[in-house]
Amino acid sequence: CGIVGYVGRSNDSTALEVVMEGLARLEYRGYDSAGVALVDGDHVETRKKSGKLANLTAELEAHPLAGSTTAIGHTRWATHGGPTDANAHPHRGGRDGKLALIHNGIIENFHALRQGLLADGVEFSSETDTEVVAHLVAAAYDERGDLTEAMRAVVADLEGAFTLLAIHADQPGVVVGARRNSPLVVGLGDDANYLGSDVAAFIGYTRHALELAQDQIVTITPDGATVINFDGTPAEGTAYEVTWDAAA
Ligand code: GLU
Repeated sequence: CGIVGYVGRSNDSTALEVVMEGLARLEYRGYDSAGVALVDGDHVETRKKSGKLANLTAELEAHPLAGSTTAIGHTRWATHGGPTDANAHPHRGGRDGKLALIHNGIIENFHALRQGLLADGVEFSSETDTEVVAHLVAAAYDERGDLTEAMRAVVADLEGAFTLLAIHADQPGVVVGARRNSPLVVGLGDDANYLGSDVAAFIGYTRHALELAQDQIVTITPDGATVINFDGTPAEGTAYEVTWDAAA
């Protein structure tokens, strides 16, 4: 339901703080669970809880996360699988726990994709349509060695409406987003960049935004944002300034 992504230069608590603040600003959209993931050395760490954001905050106090440059956060409105901790996003993909992925929307053909993965021996830890995509992107990463290209390979096989964000431990300093019939906006900072399901996600940090068109993939690093179409051709977002007052 709500999505936040952050990448900066400092390996500290900023990434988690920015993502948690973004989730709080997206609370107005309504949700039943919340979760975060960040790159921690050779793997990704996730914390996720059903219920209010306060439950996630308590979980983070009980089980703190290390500093990171690279983090994503999600508030979920369950469509596939009940509002449980296990079904909350982010979902991890691959056998090595190196990838984490969040999703707004519905993957219409997830059942067929899930059957294929089960036949390959993949084990699932949730009932969501989303976890299918996490495993597919992790496998595509193992083949291609690049998160943007892995995302591009997988979205070609997806039907439905989706905003997807992924991080991978072997590519710290990178968050990749993709969108089809579901919103995703880029926030451009000085030494950090942002992704959000709407500008409220990063309005506390920057008012320089980049709007994406349909069927596009964006890769953010601390240096900037690169946009391509699902067919791989280069694209450019439409830059604009957020003018409304979001002080509240
Ligand atoms: N379909 C996904 C799920 O049920 C994402 C729901 C959402 O947009 O929050 O987990």
